[in-house]
Amino acid sequence: MVCTFCKVGPDSHDHLFFSCDFSRKIWCKLKYLVRMDCAPNDWQNLLNFMIKRPVNESIWSILQRLVLGACVYYIWQERNFQAFGSLKVVFWIDASWLYNSTIC
Ligand SMILES: [Zn+2]
Repeated sequence: MVCTFCKVGPDSHDHLFFSCDFSRKIWCKLKYLVRMDCAPNDWQNLLNFMIKRPVNESIWSILQRLVLGACVYYIWQERNFQAFGSLKVVFWIDASWLYNSTIC
């Protein structure tokens, strides 16, 4: 099975988060918005990066964790929609906007 977004890469977690051009572009824009420009774009290094980050009650710490969780959740949901034809979610509109925007 190949990636439902790019139709080139494998259908794997490592590719989907965030080696795939589609999901990487979204992740890069979102991480920029929450001041995580230096966060890696590959899953294993990103997990290691997040584990080492301080967890506190600052707004940026909270936003960074929320944005990563939301990004993974909605990309996974959109992948399932495209792969299995489940109900389309509103995120697609947002992802399309984000994908095509010129934030970074
Ligand atoms: Zn892909």
